[in-house]
Order: sequence, then structure tokens, then C-alpha cells
Amino acid sequence: MERALRSLSSSIEALSRALHRRPELSLEEKSSSERIARFLRAEGFTIRRGVAGLKTAFVARRRGRRGGPRLAFLAEYDALPEIGHACGHNLIGAAAAGAGAAIGRVIGSLRGEVLVIGTPAEETIGGKALMVDRGVFRGIDAALMFHPSTENRVYTTSLACHSLEVTFLGRAAHAVAAPERGINALDALIRTFLLLQRAKHHLPREVRMPGVIVEGGRRANIVPDRSVGRFTLRARNLSTLERVEQEFRSAVQEAGEATGARWVIRSLDHPYAEMVTNRTLAVIFKQELARLGRRTIDTPRKKMGSLDMGNVSQRIPSIHPYVAIAPPRVPLHSRSFARLAGGARGSAGLRVATRALALTGLEVLSRDGTCARVRQEFEAWRRRTRGGPR
Ligand SMILES: [Zn+2]
Repeated sequence: MERALRSLSSSIEALSRALHRRPELSLEEKSSSERIARFLRAEGFTIRRGVAGLKTAFVARRRGRRGGPRLAFLAEYDALPEIGHACGHNLIGAAAAGAGAAIGRVIGSLRGEVLVIGTPAEETIGGKALMVDRGVFRGIDAALMFHPSTENRVYTTSLACHSLEVTFLGRAAHAVAAPERGINALDALIRTFLLLQRAKHHLPREVRMPGVIVEGGRRANIVPDRSVGRFTLRARNLSTLERVEQEFRSAVQEAGEATGARWVIRSLDHPYAEMVTNRTLAVIFKQELARLGRRTIDTPRKKMGSLDMGNVSQRIPSIHPYVAIAPPRVPLHSRSFARLAGGARGSAGLRVATRALALTGLEVLSRDGTCARVRQEFEAWRRRTRGGPR
């Protein structure tokens, strides 16, 4: 394994830099996914592309001896408009491919199978959420990935999240001469905002329901007959999120009924589930980081976003650790972070992450009992949350 990692190191770094040089938006990651797939094919993997109906998704696999665990490294490779790889997904893609290739070189002497799964569109629709629903992760025993960050952290949590759009339909009329003949769709939308403000008082503190007005009428002297608002609802877990969504729907209903406007609610993405970190896997990853001189922060996160890895983690044991490539003052999704992701600090983080991923994977595949402990922990969590994934 040491030899494999050493001899792959420069081609892994070259892969990351190539991805960084040509950033592609969510669902348009054609050359990025091709590049990673080509790298893996050259390492003896068989590749299936366009899985789950997503053109830029792929599953690459390499088998060892019969039986044994199935282990997957997850690659992301989408970038952001104008600021390129400002979330460092070039490093995620290269680390997953690199760790997969390193395991691939030794899997002939092990029982089991190693997969690298290309998961597009993390920044928009949440490719993994869709791929989970379409069965891509069926039969896999553990899913491992890393994300570049400003800190080293192995116990990841994230918020459950769902984005919704509401359209109110009213009736236009002269807003000065005969407003009473119109039905004001903008009024309904503004009421929705106010009702949500009120609803926050009886929802858990961490709940967030920010919204924007996308359409609110065209001219002040016409009663708006159409308004559109977009909201993203966030909560600690899926069951709280369901409550929040219920509150949202009743706010819309109340606003619609008060004004006489009709309404349509549309889902803008797949709901993201909260991330459940498999601690057995996280501990192994943490030990590898410690060996490489990286101290981790283990206190709970204060500021969280949402991850499509959350949906994977509800189905199979998963980790989504963070490895620092930037100082704390540099925010993700900034130009500075993009620069670091393509530079020396990014490469240093990439080496650390690839190695920790590969060695964690190796332990799952080669040490008797590790995979069973990973599974046991997961089953125990499932029982605690009554029935597990919804
Ligand atoms: Zn990201």
C-alpha cells in the first residue's frame, strides 16, 4: 500500500490540478468526469457511465478475491459559476480516485471490492440524493469521502434541508382606480414571510427558513396577479424538517385564503437528510490524520450547511471528514479558497486526505471485524431512530 500511494502521488496531484484548471458547473462536468474515469480505467477499473440517469455520474469498480466487503470512495467534481473550484471539489475528485487506485493495486490479495463513485452536482440538485433513490448505493458496505476546509474534523454533522417555491396567482386590476377588483398575489407572498416569522417562535432554535421574492409584479399601478417566492427550509434532522415543511404549507395556505389568491408549491430539489457520521470509520480516519500530524477539532460544529452526503449516510455507514487546506479566515465559496484549492496547500491537503482515505479503506477490507463493527454501529443507530431512513 505504501508503495502504491508513493508511486501514484504525482499523478493524483496532476489529476487535481487538471480538474482545477477546467472548472465545470453542476451537471455539466463532462470533461472532469471523463478525466477521472480515464485515470481509473488505466488503473484496471471497469467503468459504467451515465448511471442513475445522470450523464456525468459514473461507477468504477475493481474486484479482489470472492466475498468480502464492498467499499466506495465518493468523488465530487462540480465547480461554481465565475469563482471556479471555490469549494475545492477538484481535491475531492482526485482524492477519491487516488485512494481507489491505491486500494485497487493491492486488492488482488484481499477479499472484497473497491468502487469509486462519481457523484455530480453537489452544489445544486444534490446528485447523491438522486443516486441513493435510484439504487446506486445498494449492496455497498461503507462510503468514504473527504471535503477540503479550514479545519481538520472527522465527526461531521449537517442540517436537513429542502428548497421549495411558491407561486401565488391573483387577479390584475388598476391598483389606484379599482384595487378592490383585483386579487393581490404579492400581498399573499408578503403575508407568507410574516407568518413564517411568527412560526419560528414555536420551532426549534436551529430552524432556518430564508426566502427571496423572485417575482412580485411589474408596475406599481397594476395589482400583481402573480408572485413567486423561493424558500430553503433547514432543520437538525428529517423529522424536524417535516414539521417545518408543514408550518410552511400552512403559512402559504393561510396567506392564500386571506387574500383570495390561489397557490402552487413546487419542490426545487431533493430533500437533503442530516449527515450521520459512522464513528467507527471516523476514528480510523482520525488516527491516520494524527499520524500525519493533523490534529482534529472534535467539538460540535456551530455553523453548518447541508450536504447531499447526508442522504448516503442514512442508507449506509459513511464518513465526510474535513481536511484543512486554508486558514480559518478564508471562507469556502470564495476566490481565495479557489486559489488555495489549486495551489500548494491544496496539494498538501490532498496527499493527507488520499492517504487517510486509502488506509481507512484498507482497514475495512483487511482487518477482520472492522467491517462488522461499522455495520453494528449503523444498525444500532437505525434501531434508535425507529426504522431508519424515510
Ligand atoms: Zn463542497
